[in-house]
Amino acid sequence: MINKEEYALIQQLQQRVMELQQNEQLLTIQLEGASAFNHSILDALPIDIFLHDELGKTVFMNKEGCKRHGKPLHELVGKTVYDFFPKQIADVLRKDDLKVWQTKTQLIKSVKVEFSGKPVHLLTGKSIVRENQTNKEYLLGYALDVTKQIQAEEQVEHIVYHDSLTGLPNRWYIEQNGEEYLQDTEGCAAMLLLDLDHFKVINDSMGHQAGDLLLQKVASRLKELEEKNIMLARLGGDEFVFILKGVYGIDKICDFNEKIIQILSKPFTVEEKQVTITPSIGISLYPKDATTIFSMIKNADIAMYHLKEKGRNGYQFFTDNMKESANHRMDMEILLRQAIDKEEFILHYQPKLHLGTGKIYGVEALVRWDSPDHGLLYPGSFIELAEETGLIVPLGEWVLREACRQCREWHDLGYKDLTISVNVSAQQFRKRDLEETVKDVLETTGLDPKALELELTESTVMENPVEAAAALKRLQKMGISISIDDFGTGFSSLNYLKHFPINTLKIDRSFIQNAEKDNADAAITLAVITLAHNLNLSVVAEVVENELQLDFVTNARCNGGQGYFISRPLDREAMIEYLRINEGGR
Ligand code: C2E
Ligand code: CA
Ligand code: CA
Repeated sequence: MINKEEYALIQQLQQRVMELQQNEQLLTIQLEGASAFNHSILDALPIDIFLHDELGKTVFMNKEGCKRHGKPLHELVGKTVYDFFPKQIADVLRKDDLKVWQTKTQLIKSVKVEFSGKPVHLLTGKSIVRENQTNKEYLLGYALDVTKQIQAEEQVEHIVYHDSLTGLPNRWYIEQNGEEYLQDTEGCAAMLLLDLDHFKVINDSMGHQAGDLLLQKVASRLKELEEKNIMLARLGGDEFVFILKGVYGIDKICDFNEKIIQILSKPFTVEEKQVTITPSIGISLYPKDATTIFSMIKNADIAMYHLKEKGRNGYQFFTDNMKESANHRMDMEILLRQAIDKEEFILHYQPKLHLGTGKIYGVEALVRWDSPDHGLLYPGSFIELAEETGLIVPLGEWVLREACRQCREWHDLGYKDLTISVNVSAQQFRKRDLEETVKDVLETTGLDPKALELELTESTVMENPVEAAAALKRLQKMGISISIDDFGTGFSSLNYLKHFPINTLKIDRSFIQNAEKDNADAAITLAVITLAHNLNLSVVAEVVENELQLDFVTNARCNGGQGYFISRPLDREAMIEYLRINEGGR
């Protein structure tokens, strides 16, 4: 690396040489001096100075120049650049010279040459000067060795343009150079944006260090696919990008995607654990889908999202219709973000019936978005987006707070035993501060923790069972109940759940609906309910839509029932009315 003093010296020198060149008067005087072999000033300068005639023959070279060439002046006089450098380099230098002769203007340029096989970067300046006495013109040049400076710049550039974790070019590099790379193609080019499915889960459960290690291993496998006309970069996080150039058929792109999927399919060993990971790849084509690097990335990203919505793992080409849905998604994201700030949400409450006593014992809080633009929206149209964008975290906190506040109000009205269930999404649960939030909400609303139940889906809990069990235990210790929502749709076995600190299973709607139609399903449902009871868990049947289903779940000894047949979800006013009529919880 070049040090600070050296850098300052180079700058000073550069400045002086510029001044020299700009001041023709001065040059002329020195030139006279030079022709009179009185080159003491020129010899004293620590830069190369040379004088060529119109044919390119060396007329003069100062001491520093002679030193660089390793020859005394008399051996250099009369020689041209073709005697000093390989033809390729000499051609470039001579061309520059001719340009200066033609235009009679100064040319300042950095050139890369070689001296005894070693690359040297020179900052050169050339201009035409006239000797006073003879009126003859010469080309006066100087060359300053800036190798160290350039190397330092290159090092800085490398740091700026590369990702320190994997050593791959980074997003900045792609943004700066990708377009040129794309344009320089025959046929078409393809951009493949690759995102690892569920990487966040691995990162959160195994820790960042393990996550980093996995990314490095993924990068080194992907590097194996690099070859001429293929560029690989890491855009950040778990996103990688390939640019394929000179593509003449979709087949070739498909083959390459298959190769990526194949190469990542073998398990990775990270901290002695086996980890499997699948990619989702979105593809945009140049110039068909876009011509700028930003829109290439954006369209590939849209295609990738589209794939993820369909269920991940694989590859997907961009199409124009995707853009519309992506635009819609983006509009919705902006609206959703604003809605959270403006608190445009309300809660509906669906009563839960105790099947043994026929009493309403609790309600489930269900969020709705009361949008001024779109009317009343149900979770089906925004919860997924909220999860993907992380907006579920502030939204979920609002729901929890409002639900607890409302429940406390009911208690104050005399419905003292009423419980409230709040849905907690995977993202919220993953965040370490859920317990803190719950504690704070209970404190500020003054709600008895016994009245609060959190509903988590099986998959949320099974993402990381060990940590989940510990977190649930801590919540239970606070007095809160835990319910597993949509039970039966995930992969957990009852045997597994035996060790879990939970209170209630909410049997998924499909069981109840199929039980009515199919004897075998009915038998399975009954078996699940019996097993749950043996594990001391209470069972709630949801989405009870008719009398037949209500009879079935009652006979099956379900503890609770919830569904349109019992009551639809009700807004705040309707809920108060409902409680009044049904004397719920009193
Ligand atoms: P879920 O937790 O399974 O909630 C039950 C859903 O079934 C609710 O839909 C409810 O209105 C509907 N439902 C209840 N009884 C019946 C019935 O008899 N027939 C039919 N066809 N449907 C019935 P909703 O309110 O649209 O909520 C859908 C899902 O959105 C919820 O499913 C839950 O997973 C999620 N969700 C709702 N509110 C929140 C929330 O505050 N936070 C989070 N993270 N998720 C929420
Ligand atoms: Ca629920
Ligand atoms: Ca459910």
